[in-house]
Amino acid sequence: MMKTLGMGASHRLNVTNINRYVRMGRIGNYALGYKEDGIFYVCYVGRSDTDLNVRLKEHIDENSDYEYFKFKYAETVADAYMTECRNFHDFPNENNKNHPAKPEDYVGKCPVCSE
Ligand SMILES: [Zn+2]
Repeated sequence: MMKTLGMGASHRLNVTNINRYVRMGRIGNYALGYKEDGIFYVCYVGRSDTDLNVRLKEHIDENSDYEYFKFKYAETVADAYMTECRNFHDFPNENNKNHPAKPEDYVGKCPVCSE
């Protein structure tokens, strides 16, 4: 089965694009990476349980491979956590060293490895 982030189009990672595409105060998931021949290569996956717009801005100029971003809103922090787990296991990379942390008060398990 082909692995997919389930996210929309990629945008260059800068303040203008983040404000243009990502509504403030929404939670959700994102991926950072670079593009070659139109293909997006994942270099990092993450989530924000508070504000995706703010979180993405923290990654600007953090790593030269973080040229583009994709994102997806989540309705709940539990949904964001489960999506991040799937992304983490589907797109292993050197920048995501640790398994995604559970949201506060979340008692469920990772849907992939049951950690
Ligand atoms: Zn896991």
